[in-house]
Amino acid sequence: MNSMERIIHDVVIVGAGMAGLRAAITAAEYNDKIDVAVISKVYPVRSHSVCAQGGSAAMLGGEDSYDLHSWDTVKGSDFLADQDVVEFFVENATKEIIALEHWGCPWSRTEEGKINQRPFGGHSYPRACFAADMTGFHEMHTLHAKATEFENIKFYDEWFVTSIIVEDRASRGLAAIELKTGNMHVFQSKATIIATGGYARVYEFTTFSHIATGDGMAMAYRAGIPLKDMEFIQFHPTGMVPSGILITGGARGEGGYLINAKNERFMKQYAPEKMELAPRDIVSRAETTEIQEGRGFDGPYGPYIALDLRHLGEEKINERLPLIRDVAIKLGGVDPVEEPIPIKPAAHYSMGGIDANIKTETMASGLYAAGECSCLNMHGANRLGTNSTTDCLVFGAVAGEEAAKFALSHDHREIPKDRIMVEEKIVFDNILGREGDERVPVLRDELRQIMSEKVWVFRKGNQLESALKELKNLKKRFENIKVEDKEKQFNAGLVGALQLGFTLDLSETTIAGALARIESRGAHTRLDFPKRDDNNWLKHTIAYYTTEGPRLEYTPVTITKWPPVARAY
Ligand SMILES: Cc1cc2nc3c(=O)[nH]c(=O)nc-3n(C[C@H](O)[C@H](O)[C@H](O)COP(=O)(O)OP(=O)(O)OC[C@H]3O[C@@H](n4cnc5c(N)ncnc54)[C@H](O)[C@@H]3O)c2cc1C
Repeated sequence: MNSMERIIHDVVIVGAGMAGLRAAITAAEYNDKIDVAVISKVYPVRSHSVCAQGGSAAMLGGEDSYDLHSWDTVKGSDFLADQDVVEFFVENATKEIIALEHWGCPWSRTEEGKINQRPFGGHSYPRACFAADMTGFHEMHTLHAKATEFENIKFYDEWFVTSIIVEDRASRGLAAIELKTGNMHVFQSKATIIATGGYARVYEFTTFSHIATGDGMAMAYRAGIPLKDMEFIQFHPTGMVPSGILITGGARGEGGYLINAKNERFMKQYAPEKMELAPRDIVSRAETTEIQEGRGFDGPYGPYIALDLRHLGEEKINERLPLIRDVAIKLGGVDPVEEPIPIKPAAHYSMGGIDANIKTETMASGLYAAGECSCLNMHGANRLGTNSTTDCLVFGAVAGEEAAKFALSHDHREIPKDRIMVEEKIVFDNILGREGDERVPVLRDELRQIMSEKVWVFRKGNQLESALKELKNLKKRFENIKVEDKEKQFNAGLVGALQLGFTLDLSETTIAGALARIESRGAHTRLDFPKRDDNNWLKHTIAYYTTEGPRLEYTPVTITKWPPVARAY
């Protein structure tokens, strides 16, 4: 294949995580004449989805109901979720869990052999379907095995997409580097689905894999597709100290306690009814307050909170939380059977993302977004645990179907022949060709420091202003980088530079959105504006790319059944 060759497919999916694989299966199943490509910068089962531990939420009967799952999600979102999207989601969640069951997912079972479900933060019924504490691992292997059965799905593993091509509000394809050769190729597609995951790696202390740099969000943004609600970043209450590796909320679902240095279950002050099973924004704020007021444990990596599982006993820990025990022993140096696990809040999820509607359509025709990179207004200002993997399944399937239908009813839109040269110039001349004196890892660490110090659990106007200024300065310095490695094959330095560029753009939208939103809602807490303000701020933030930085607009929230009320747990 020479580097000028164009690769043509009907449907191209960027991302082989849970959303991308689910989309591929539906598109391929929809019609076997549709030819589908799945591009991923890592081998599919190395996508972050594999790390999901606790479970996938779905109403499977008993005393549970669609309305209850919807209400929990809407209340959890601090009323910023669009309620039509939530209702669609819960009604389709059940069949997705059953589909995975049929494709061989080894769900944990009840004694009667049914799919078992555990309690989870913010859910008022045990509805998290799980496979021990390796739910994502099993779901991903099930989906990957299923997807490889289709002759009309072709995988491009270890290909790095650098930009998506949108002209006249229509998607035409994208540009990608085959990492093995270092050659740039242009993909032409009738429909494109972006399923590139989240960007929590803009933070230092995070549960996310190093690949979670939000590439697809930044590419869409640069191509003129707006990003939505980017100020809402979820902090997970139990990131293990010092690595940030996740200790699943399932550990609290199984009955784990959170303890401060005075040996108190402090959640009784913050959420007397739900205690440790309050939603993540509330628990993360409680932990941060305990630490700031001096009731954290002292440790070599700073103050922390303890997650105590000892009372669950060795047998239950081994059955329900085997990965957690293994991770705590090997990477935290504590055996949770004997000792509490040191934890504190860690950056975990982006509620915001590429602006898309209930059908996963974006502003550009033929361009769809699903999974964590998208914002369909499902999670509002705070996502409930276990709703994300199910979101990837439900809306991955929707994206696959919509893209398939679009591909059947539209022709290819030509990509100009010289486009490959434009793309090569952007990456090879403008990034790899720079000969400045700034180093990518240094800028990356400075970005993470700014985000961790000034755009964390508690925010203040003056800190956000200073963060924005420092970020703009980093963007200037980025113009002056040098990637030492000039080789073509597997150039990790080049990939790192491209990812840094993406995260700089995304952080700017997060800070700008957070600075503008002068209220506290869900995961966005402004110490200078501590109350939720429905009169002025019951609306979504839409950020458009401009060369000077994001331009913000606002759109209304859809309310079907549940008008906003005070949120207590
Ligand atoms: C440790 C951890 C535990 C979690 N536990 C749970 C849980 O129990 N339940 C729950 O509901 N949620 C959980 N979540 C959240 C949930 O796992 C994620 O939100 C979800 O899996 C994201 O899936 P995705 O398909 O959107 O993206 P990902 O799985 O992140 O996949 C992104 C894909 O895009 C590809 N990609 C990205 N950029 C490029 C590029 N430039 N070129 C080519 N390919 C690219 C990647 O290679 C990858 O294949 C957890 C998250 C973490 C980090």
